[in-house]
Order: sequence, then structure tokens, then C-alpha cells
Amino acid sequence: MAIERTLSIVKPDAVGKNVIGKIYDRFESAGLKIVAAKMKQLSRAEAEGFYAVHKERPFFKDLVDFMVSGPVMIQALEGENAVLKNRELMGATDPKKAEAGTIRADFADSIDANAVHGSDSVENAAIEVAYFFAASEISAR
Ligand code: GDP
Ligand code: MG
Repeated sequence: MAIERTLSIVKPDAVGKNVIGKIYDRFESAGLKIVAAKMKQLSRAEAEGFYAVHKERPFFKDLVDFMVSGPVMIQALEGENAVLKNRELMGATDPKKAEAGTIRADFADSIDANAVHGSDSVENAAIEVAYFFAASEISAR
């Protein structure tokens, strides 16, 4: 299996609940390595740019409002099959539909305040990692 990188964000709801470490434990216990990380208060422009693919969706304004409502913790994860593995750890977008034991089932409250973001493809992962991290901020491990 290929070693991949994926972009993960601990969203403002989960940062506010003080569960960054518990979420990082899910990544590390699954064999994903954190190769870059930063805490950041996103500007509206940054959040809108990151979620540009959703800009025509009815929930876009709510999504941007939520993503700038407090600091986020942004990380690049590396490991075998990292994109799909992270999506499996996250669980379904709607926490009510997320499998037991997933991050969203355990830490998320609603479909908008759903604890984490994770890239959905290897192609988008490369774009999303580069959106937040310069090559010099990523440590080969
Ligand atoms: P993800 O890849 O599982 O995060 O889901 P999507 O890419 O489909 O949507 C991006 C984000 O938009 C989700 O994580 C939610 O925070 C938010 N979102 C998606 N669908 C809805 C919705 O129906 N209502 C609201 N308020 N937010 C939504
Ligand atoms: Mg998505």
C-alpha cells in the first residue's frame, strides 16, 4: 500500500471541548504520523478559499461562520493509505450516522459542528496540505 499524506483539521467545536489530544491519539494509534501541525484562527477569506468547492451549497455561509468561530488545529498526517484511513477514523459527516468508535460519533454534536475535516482523495489531499503548509513546514519522518 502507498504511503500517503492527508490534511486533517480539528474544528472549532472540538478545540473548544479540549479534545485535541484525544483526537491525535486516534491518528497515532492507527499508525498515522503527524508530520506538520499548526493552531490557527482562520480568516473568512481562508475558510472560504479552503471550502471553495462547496460555495454554491446552501450551508456554505453556516460552514464558514462555524470554521471562523474559534481556532482550529491543522495537521498533515502521513502513513499507509492515509486518506482513506483518516476518513474511516473520522466517521460519517453527520455524527448521528457515524459508526460507533469514530471521532465524529464520540466528539461531534451536529452535521455542521462535526469535530474534524479530512481530505477526501489523494489529489485533494495534496491541494489541501499545500493550502496550509509550506514544504519547509513538513517534516519527513
Ligand atoms: P466531509 O467531507 O465529511 O467533511 O463533508 P462535506 O465535504 O460533504 O462537507 C463539508 C462540511 O460542510 C462538513 O464537514 C460539515 O461541517 C458541513 N456540512 C455538510 N453538509 C452540511 C449540511 O447539510 N448543513 C450544514 N450546516 N453543514 C454541512
Ligand atoms: Mg469533504
